[in-house]
Amino acid sequence: MDNKNAIKGGEFIVKETLAEEIFIPEDFDEEPRMIAQTCQDFLDTEVIPNLDRLDAHEKGLMPNLLKKAGELGLLGISIPEEYGGFGQNFTTSMLVADILGAGYSFSVGYSADTGIGTLPIMYYGNEKQKQKYLPKLASGEFLGAYCLTEPGAGSDANSGKTKAVLNEAGTHYILNGSKMWITNGGFADVLTVFAKIDDDRILSAFIVERNFPGITFGAEENKMGIKGSSTVQIFFNDCEVPVENLLGNRGDGFRIALNILNLGRIKLGANVIGASKTAINQSVQYANERKQFRTLISNFGAIKYKLAQQVIKAFANETAVYRMSKNVDDAVKRNITNGMNKGQASVEAQREFVIEAALIKVFGSEMLDYVVDEGVQIHGGMGFSSETPIERAYRDSRINRIFEGTNEINRNVTGDTLIKKGLKGEIPLFEEAEKIAADIDKFPKNPNFDGDYFNDVKMIVNNFKTTFLLLVDAAHKKFGKKLSREQEIIFNFADIIMESYIAESFYLRVKRLQNIKSGKAADIYRDMLNVYLFDSANIIYKQGIEAMYSFIDESEQEDYLKALRCLTKVKPFNVKEARRRIADKLIDDNKYMF
Ligand SMILES: Cc1cc2nc3c(=O)[nH]c(=O)nc-3n(C[C@H](O)[C@H](O)[C@H](O)COP(=O)(O)OP(=O)(O)OC[C@H]3O[C@@H](n4cnc5c(N)ncnc54)[C@H](O)[C@@H]3O)c2cc1C
Repeated sequence: MDNKNAIKGGEFIVKETLAEEIFIPEDFDEEPRMIAQTCQDFLDTEVIPNLDRLDAHEKGLMPNLLKKAGELGLLGISIPEEYGGFGQNFTTSMLVADILGAGYSFSVGYSADTGIGTLPIMYYGNEKQKQKYLPKLASGEFLGAYCLTEPGAGSDANSGKTKAVLNEAGTHYILNGSKMWITNGGFADVLTVFAKIDDDRILSAFIVERNFPGITFGAEENKMGIKGSSTVQIFFNDCEVPVENLLGNRGDGFRIALNILNLGRIKLGANVIGASKTAINQSVQYANERKQFRTLISNFGAIKYKLAQQVIKAFANETAVYRMSKNVDDAVKRNITNGMNKGQASVEAQREFVIEAALIKVFGSEMLDYVVDEGVQIHGGMGFSSETPIERAYRDSRINRIFEGTNEINRNVTGDTLIKKGLKGEIPLFEEAEKIAADIDKFPKNPNFDGDYFNDVKMIVNNFKTTFLLLVDAAHKKFGKKLSREQEIIFNFADIIMESYIAESFYLRVKRLQNIKSGKAADIYRDMLNVYLFDSANIIYKQGIEAMYSFIDESEQEDYLKALRCLTKVKPFNVKEARRRIADKLIDDNKYMF
């Protein structure tokens, strides 16, 4: 994609993307596929056989597994080669997160180490800091953690009380305070710790080594899930941190924290791909073995419904993650061409797509919760037994809606940031919205479908986006700058934005797949797309009228209702039969192969 046409973050809401412009997983060439295979082999041989021992917190097991991953190069996937890593692009690092995402607690330890544990130094460290820490983090000699949350500061991360004061000699910052819920805290050698210098209002960031004086570690938390991952509280009592370990400049900490979390959100979207496919495999394999009423339960329509929905949602999430990953890689290249260094170019590229990262985090975590919940249901009583892996998957999934910014925070980021981008003129949101609102009374009863399958689908997707534009214009006129305080409405908008992005990604991938697959193999993707759009339209309609009734004057509600009905209409088709065909393919393959 050339610079002129390159899509900006959030711009999808007012700009169409062509199918050939998006990256789909089918585009991966040999090198990333080989890396993916290495990850899969590592999972199969080292992680999966050890899940019970991991969950029992067998001493040393998690760090040893991480170090073994380091020996294979898996900890240095995105670390530049000059610091001992593989310097792979963003999309490939997402593929690694995708495959290793099927590793239950290991996946959390791995993600924390290679993501929030390593990237602050990689992106914000000075040359000396990078030379000192990155090669060891790439090899696994050092393992990393990220210490932002405190007992009194969770979502409101900048309200932390941990304090840093320069000592009289000017050689060390003295840290006092505590951090909570720190993943890998039980063994990490290098911690990025956020604290305020003196009475600063904004956080700074420090590289803290485990053996610095004045640091102590609490006991492992007893958690609902991801039991094998280490989560501890960390206490700093006059902890001495050399001045050269300040990361970035004084006061850069909050910016670093947010940018790193932003990356963690996309990575979480990738992690849940692997986890969802594994849970789907467990579900279908059980359904293909379990007999009731003298037939396999996979023959029941109710079970087929669940299997089909699992597949559609997982496929949708995967599609959005890789579409966005390539957008990030393209933005990195552009930023480098425009004179930024690699680290800065990467951070800015990820920041550019903050809206997409937030919505993918929400969609992915809720998708996985759906998949594992129905997975348990398909297993019946056995799903409630710790003898089946789906029980672990169910417990392990729940955290995804809480960490890397809760889904409430991320819904807020999605809706509020997009509106603010529009208000700042970064994208022509309100110009487009006003044009649509001017014709509010001209919406037909039904959309004017022209009969060409992909033209009609494109119209449906554009109508989803129009729903948001129509409502955001009215909401902005009603509330002005106070719209941010109307969180319920922002959340209605966030879901419409999210569904629009996912639906568009789905449509674009299926359109591309028509050239890659043929006949029945291609038709199944149309079934999946049709069902997705059907469900999405209903979600958008519900969110739309809920928002509309909360701020549109009664006298205008009829026009809006008519518009919303038109904008959320899909062409009639037999949804039940489409789901059955999707489920039947899964049942025949006995494995997720989409
Ligand atoms: C297993 C686990 C591992 C973790 N790993 C790490 C780690 O490695 N490093 C680290 O620094 N932290 C880590 N965390 C912390 C995690 O990021 C926080 O738990 C999370 O950010 C939420 O903060 P909180 O728990 O204080 O909840 P709170 O912020 O108290 O939120 C409570 C509820 O209020 C809602 N809420 C809060 N603010 C708003 C708002 N403005 N609008 C709407 N709703 C709101 C939340 O969405 C939530 O539903 C981890 C947590 C867990 C459980």
